[in-house]
Amino acid sequence: MGMVKENIAALATPVGASAIAVIRCSGPATNSMTKAIFGELPTPRMARHADYCDRGGKLVDDVLFTFFEAPNSYTGEDALEISCHGNPYIARRILEDLIERGCRPAEAGEFTRRAFLNGRLDLSQAEAVMDLIHARSERALAAANQQLRGALGREMQRLIARLVGAIAQVEAYIDFPEEDLPPEDRGGLRKNLEEIRRGTEKLLATGSYGVMLREGIRTVIVGEPNAGKSSLLNRLVGHDRAIVSPEPGTTRDYLEESITVGPHLLRLVDTAGLNASPTLLERKGMDKTMEQAREAHLFLWVIDSTRPLPVLGSKLADLMTPANTIALFNKSDLPESMPAAAEVSITRLSISALTGHGVDELVDRISTFADSFQVEVGDEMVAINVRHSSALQRGRIAIEAAVSKLAANEAVELLASDLREALDSFGEIAGRIDNEAVLDSLFANFCIGK
Ligand code: GDP
Repeated sequence: MGMVKENIAALATPVGASAIAVIRCSGPATNSMTKAIFGELPTPRMARHADYCDRGGKLVDDVLFTFFEAPNSYTGEDALEISCHGNPYIARRILEDLIERGCRPAEAGEFTRRAFLNGRLDLSQAEAVMDLIHARSERALAAANQQLRGALGREMQRLIARLVGAIAQVEAYIDFPEEDLPPEDRGGLRKNLEEIRRGTEKLLATGSYGVMLREGIRTVIVGEPNAGKSSLLNRLVGHDRAIVSPEPGTTRDYLEESITVGPHLLRLVDTAGLNASPTLLERKGMDKTMEQAREAHLFLWVIDSTRPLPVLGSKLADLMTPANTIALFNKSDLPESMPAAAEVSITRLSISALTGHGVDELVDRISTFADSFQVEVGDEMVAINVRHSSALQRGRIAIEAAVSKLAANEAVELLASDLREALDSFGEIAGRIDNEAVLDSLFANFCIGK
């Protein structure tokens, strides 16, 4: 994590014609560069209007620029933001000029990486910046904002403080090899470790909701051929993306669409029909359906209510529970339609994908199901990502190992080494990563200029 000496610059807005484009620049030379370009170093954080002339003195554009003085900037370094007219040619000219003046083009996520290295953000907050940029629902936005404000970091600090206490307790005995942990201390330590394990599990339990927030709630539409699955997808999406056809078994593969339902983002997946005696091609589609079903958070089971109640294949039925399935008795507009069968224990609704009858209520139900997927941790909204999950899992395994060593009266040194391992894993979540490769892969997911 050596000292950062280079000045970096990048376009912070997408390439293309727009009202404005923003170019940012950060590093120790920013101060003198600002003076050289604009002839003055204005009050930090105060926007100024000026002509931007390149090194050869040619006028490029009139711009707004803001100087940020270290450490009060996004990166924690001296930084400059230039808003020019949103013409990619102008933006490129300015960027090229900054590079001539000694900047180098920033790598993906480099501004945020510097913010992390300079202690402006912990690693979970840096990741939240990314979540914030990609949030596509009210819930995803709320979770990203809370994480950016340090919610996960605070949860981790609580666990870490407890763990550090336990380590201190254990290590006090390492210095006195002739003494063993007295039974009352063992009891206290055990309680402490159980608390940490529970806290770890609580956080781990938010992982599945984290996936739903970041990728959308995977909502898989299943049902027999011709039940009206594609029609329902179209109805929910509001346009004809799926091919609706009166011939059974037309959706051989699967279709995917994102929609928002209230504060939630849904990834709707229309699957091939589940035919009782499928052809070879249909069988392929059904295998795909099972693949999708295994990843599903929510099932919309479309039933043709003009026909006898179908029986689901057992493999699929095993995945569908009252907590994740809504049964839809479709085609309620037809006279031969039967009302939603009462013997089905799961939530059921009468709908018509054709006329839209019952679809508003369906949307409400979907929203209620989606609400029920959210896991609370204290008063704060926490939804961990895959990296956090893997660190927490490693931590939990180490804690569990320590608990069983404690129960087996094993030497305190062995216990201490498990606890230190847990501490390292927990530490990775908020930061303390000195592994360049891990940082590289993490920030590579960012865009240039962020
Ligand atoms: P899928 O094979 O399950 O995807 O079914 P489709 O959406 O392709 O629909 C099969 C047939 O049923 C089509 O002719 C649709 O127009 C028709 N259909 C779908 N939903 C309804 C409905 O609610 N009412 C009526 N009357 N017909 C429907």
